[in-house]
Amino acid sequence: MHFILDSIPHFDTTDDGKFTLRQNVLILLDILIGVVLFVIFYDKISHPVAFISGAFGCLLPDILDVAPFWKKNFQKTWFGDKMHYVHDKIQAIKIGPFLGLSIQAIFIAFSVLILILK
Ligand SMILES: [Zn+2]
Repeated sequence: MHFILDSIPHFDTTDDGKFTLRQNVLILLDILIGVVLFVIFYDKISHPVAFISGAFGCLLPDILDVAPFWKKNFQKTWFGDKMHYVHDKIQAIKIGPFLGLSIQAIFIAFSVLILILK
């Protein structure tokens, strides 16, 4: 699922692999929005542990391949090298913040709508 979503043009906040203030604020906002949506829609989630496990699994490629703490060591492994190649190729379309964040907002709104209609 991660790679399917990564193939949709979006705005990346990697700041060249450095944890800048902007990067940290965007990561915290991302986590905060996720937690708020999880709390709001908790009653509509029939298996919360499976939901959280799925969310973590979906984040895992970025955690392994993008987090500056271990990404160089991960990418030196056979699996990490292959996954980084695929990850990089999937995100070949680079777009600016306005269009990228707009696409992400539309996708989030569509996902929330699905949860509301459930
Ligand atoms: Zn990714």
